[in-house]
Amino acid sequence: MKKLRGISASPGIVIGPAYICTEEKLSIPRYDIRAEEVTQEFARFQQAVRQASRELEELKSRVQESARGSDEDLLNSHLMMMNDPEFSILVEERLKKELKNVEWVIISVIEEMTERLLSAKDDYLSERSSDFNDIARRIINHLLKRGRKALEDIRENSILIAHNLMPSDTISMAGKKVLGIVMEMGGRTSHTAIIARSLEIPAVLGLSHITWHVSDGDEVIVDGNTGAVIVNPDRNLRERYERKKKQWDQHEQDLLELGDLPSQTADGHRVLLEANIEIPEEIQSVLSHGADWIGLYRSEFLYIKPHAYPPEEVQCEAYRAVLQGMQGKPVTIRTLDLGGDKIIPGFKDTYEDNPILGWRAVRFCLAQPEVFKTQLRALIRSSVHGHLKIMFPMISGPEELDRILQYVEEVKGELKAQGLDFKPDIPLGIMIEVPSAALTSDVLAKKVDFFSIGTNDLIQYMIAVDRGNERIAYLYEPLHLGVLRIIRMVVENAHSNGIPVGMCGEMAADPRMTVVLLGLGLDSLSMSAASVPEIKSIVRSIKIQDAKRLTKRIMQMTSVEEIGRTLDGWMGERVAAHAAIQ
Ligand code: PEP
Ligand code: MG
Repeated sequence: MKKLRGISASPGIVIGPAYICTEEKLSIPRYDIRAEEVTQEFARFQQAVRQASRELEELKSRVQESARGSDEDLLNSHLMMMNDPEFSILVEERLKKELKNVEWVIISVIEEMTERLLSAKDDYLSERSSDFNDIARRIINHLLKRGRKALEDIRENSILIAHNLMPSDTISMAGKKVLGIVMEMGGRTSHTAIIARSLEIPAVLGLSHITWHVSDGDEVIVDGNTGAVIVNPDRNLRERYERKKKQWDQHEQDLLELGDLPSQTADGHRVLLEANIEIPEEIQSVLSHGADWIGLYRSEFLYIKPHAYPPEEVQCEAYRAVLQGMQGKPVTIRTLDLGGDKIIPGFKDTYEDNPILGWRAVRFCLAQPEVFKTQLRALIRSSVHGHLKIMFPMISGPEELDRILQYVEEVKGELKAQGLDFKPDIPLGIMIEVPSAALTSDVLAKKVDFFSIGTNDLIQYMIAVDRGNERIAYLYEPLHLGVLRIIRMVVENAHSNGIPVGMCGEMAADPRMTVVLLGLGLDSLSMSAASVPEIKSIVRSIKIQDAKRLTKRIMQMTSVEEIGRTLDGWMGERVAAHAAIQ
């Protein structure tokens, strides 16, 4: 038995067999070959390409059955690239020239092809560059007879153990019954964590070397509430966790019964609870968990398919589905937030030395007006289907916002000239997630209809702590006095300018924070749908005057430890159900 502890990233407790997916960590051997071995080495390559192609064909037929057209396009292009004659010619030439084993040669050829494509002026070609890594990995797995231990083969009801997952990995995972996720990389606000929460899969991340401690098929307990992972538990511990799991599942079930009760404090103060979604399919869950509306639809997940930006009509369709699905309730759609930690394979230009401080979100959009305007057109056109709000991410200051608002006006003018329908008064808001935006929020508040504080990034930029880096995760502290002060300032600036301010970072979903966020005056909290019932139960147990008093006291404290202790004590006394589960 082994007990380990990582970062609790998605709640819930699961027990099941491990499925290990470690291929990207394995090293590539390098050794010399003799000239007379080149033919044989090349034949190994050809055979591996055939095997890898068969594997892709199989995967394609599975995808066809589930009618996921975009995945099929991706697989087709991988097949084409893998069987491209130029690729095999290069491999053969390099084998002859370098006299090294073919696995090593493949890597060097792929590197060269990637570089060549990246320097191409042709966007269509250059966007394909990152797919080469996927292809190389697949062929090398066959050469090394590693077997394809990849996501598409995951056994149902397993616990996925991986070094890291890319957004494109969700293609293989979607529709599979993954019980839990344990990953070596990633923190609470990394994208795997966000996706795990929206798919309601318990997850523990940032557990370095987990792959050293687990073998395929080992029994694993994942406690996404505390970050505990237990490998091959003894009978006692297993039984304890089975009881804990039952208790947790029952607690979740009870919370669901809060259903449509309004989210208001015990003394009648209304705080909207909204949902964060990544894909339109989550609407059912938003409604069943009793969220008031959608506070954040991360539209970049529409761009997950490499090679092409989604055309206007494809986007219109996705936005229409969400707006109609929400039956007239507001839906806040955030414009593309690509870049940073959301590097999407296939978009060459998002690869940077320092992506967190780089070309992301609105910076990326403003540099590519066609991409931005296509999204704005689709959004504005879809306003006729429901109650749309548009939100812009990563605003750094007033000038950037002015440029964005100009584009909105320009697009509206174009649509009008074309005789296309849209609502003239779509509310426009911004995310406050860059400290400079928070510090100029008095100016920004005069230009928009609402704010939403994105603490995932705001904390990252304030404390200078990469939100996805497990080594410094201990520094990532929502209760840092600096963070609380800046939230207070943003709320005050929003309110004194007559606009509402919400929060859509993960801090909003943390039950420990609810009382402070209410005390600081936030009007709404947006979180993954599954978190809504728990936060609602806390909101309903609090009196707003108590929350304000407690927050005032907390804002006088000088250490995170003291703030944390005070909050825990307060929670323990007042929210019995929550205390019992923890
Ligand atoms: C945030 O930064 O808090 C946020 C909600 O945006 P994302 O997590 O998508 O960067
Ligand atoms: Mg963000």
